Amino acid sequence: MTALEKSRPEEGLWMVDAPVPEIGPDDVLIKINKTGICGTDIHIWNWDDWASHTVPVPMITGHEFAGEIVEIGRDVTGLSVGQRCSGEGHLIGTESRQSRAGKFHLDPGTRGIGVNVQGAFAQYLRLPAFNVVPLPDDISDEIGAILDPLGNAVHTALSFDLLGEDVLITGAGPIGIMAAAVARHASARRVVITDVNPDRLALARHVVPNVRTVNVAEEDLNDVIHELGMKEGFDVGLEMSGNQAALDQMVESMVMGGKIALLGIPPGKSPVDWSRIVFKAITIKGVYGREMFETWYKMIAMLQNGLDVSKVITHRFKVADFREGFAAMKSGKSGKVVLDWT
Ligand code: NAD
Ligand code: ZN
Repeated sequence: MTALEKSRPEEGLWMVDAPVPEIGPDDVLIKINKTGICGTDIHIWNWDDWASHTVPVPMITGHEFAGEIVEIGRDVTGLSVGQRCSGEGHLIGTESRQSRAGKFHLDPGTRGIGVNVQGAFAQYLRLPAFNVVPLPDDISDEIGAILDPLGNAVHTALSFDLLGEDVLITGAGPIGIMAAAVARHASARRVVITDVNPDRLALARHVVPNVRTVNVAEEDLNDVIHELGMKEGFDVGLEMSGNQAALDQMVESMVMGGKIALLGIPPGKSPVDWSRIVFKAITIKGVYGREMFETWYKMIAMLQNGLDVSKVITHRFKVADFREGFAAMKSGKSGKVVLDWT
């Protein structure tokens, strides 16, 4: 089968001919139709510090996918050949306290497809049946291929009650933009999203109706708070940039007792003014991945009930043109980039 592989410990990915994976009794084999390119795949392409310390070579990359089940392990029940699906790319163990409590997404032994085990940038993917999420007919393969990052957005955004709240999102990458759409869908009162990249802010306005975008390189967030009539600041903050200045700005612009969910990953240790957090009585929650499988349930329900994130997909390529897809992602001007494997 055709696959995109990190074949050598250096920059790039290579299109290779790889064997179709053999499945075990509890697995399914999925024929891949569409995949999304993630920031993680860019780290792997670039072969940065994180990637070179994390990813064994050779490795078929990719973890954002939609496809169709073509083979079922002998102990699998409840799934059928021909069924369309996406799936959770985090493979969990069953022995940790968290897993045994049903908090699968908190299992410390989690391994990621396309990072630690062979991934989804391939014509066929082996996946434990447990990780499969069937796609209803009204969710396309293209949306199915971005449920992983939409799930990050949903997991983060639904960390706190948003109904009637004023929400600040820092970072208008694909995930921040989708979080803004989710916050609107969940009936937040005001949704403000910041970035320093005007292309990303324009995309946010294109994807999400009634979102206030702020280029913090040009505009003072305090002026916006004033202009929007928020006396004390934001009730809920969703940090989606991994940028130190953005987090500082978020802490400063929260109400007393505000709540912050952190998804963005800072590049290294980053200093925090803890006394500000203490005296503002701020609650902080770190967010990793998606809740298995509550996030999947909620996002599919929202998509079936009017949540529209389709415009966040800005580029589509045949897999043969994957280099253009990665270039689009690296340009900083794109939203989600989807590769077609059919
Ligand atoms: P992205 O890199 O595409 O977007 C980040 C955005 O933040 C960029 O548009 C950038 O211009 C913007 N930014 C930079 N400085 C800023 C500032 N001072 N104020 C406001 N915005 C600023 O990333 P993405 O794919 O949308 O993902 C968002 C974040 O979530 C990343 O940090 C990513 O590593 C992280 N992530 C975490 C998890 C998890 O499980 N915790 C999963 C996926 C992604
Ligand atoms: Zn991803």
